[in-house]
Formats: sequence, structure tokens, C-alpha cells
Amino acid sequence: MFLTISINTRDRSEMIDITSKVEEELNKSGLKDGVCFVFVPHTTAGITINESADPSVMADLQATFNKLVPWEGSYRHMEGNSAAHIKSSLIGSSVIVLVESGHLKLGTWQGIFFCEFDGPRSRKIYIKFQ
Ligand code: ZN
Repeated sequence: MFLTISINTRDRSEMIDITSKVEEELNKSGLKDGVCFVFVPHTTAGITINESADPSVMADLQATFNKLVPWEGSYRHMEGNSAAHIKSSLIGSSVIVLVESGHLKLGTWQGIFFCEFDGPRSRKIYIKFQ
């Protein structure tokens, strides 16, 4: 069994802090000690853990990704969204966080971010507690 979080993204490129949503599901699950798997089942989105205290970090990450992988380019993929596919592979589709005493064992400044690269779209995030 796994849980699903649904989100609607608003921009083509967006980094959304989903830490509180994952913690909410963790509380409901009643798990005290274990592991939390978070998986994004999309080829033009991803997930990462990084600083949640200063939103500028995510803005810098997005700006750098856009420089590294421009939307327009000599890509072969006919759908026209190769940049989003490449960013998805660069950032990855899953994260694992340890659970201790009923809380996500994240660093002080860390948050879990859903990364949209070809929005706006309706997206799903799968969560498994074990
Ligand atoms: Zn595509």
C-alpha cells in the first residue's frame, strides 16, 4: 500500500515545498520509526531535498537549471519538451527520508521539494512509509 498526494502546478517551472504534506501523511500513518519513500511518477517532473528556509535557493536552482538546459535547443524528441525530460533525469524521481519518533529526520534547513519542469499540470506524488 502507498499513499498519493495530488498537486496542481501553476507554472512551467516550479519548486513546491511538500514537506508539511508528507509530514501530515506521516502523522496519519502512525509510524514512529522507519523510512519514508517519496516517488514522483512523471517524466517531466522530479523531487529533491534542499534548503527550505530561504526561497532564493530554489529560485537560484531553477535559474541555473534553465541556463544548463534551455527550453529551446536542437533536441530530437517530437513533443517539444526535451528540456523538462532532461531536468527530470538530472534531479531524480525519488527521495528517502528516515523517520524517528514520528518525525521526518530532515536537517534543520532541509525541505522536500516537488519540481515541476513542464507545467502547469496535475501531478501525483507517491509516498510509502515502512
Ligand atoms: Zn515529452
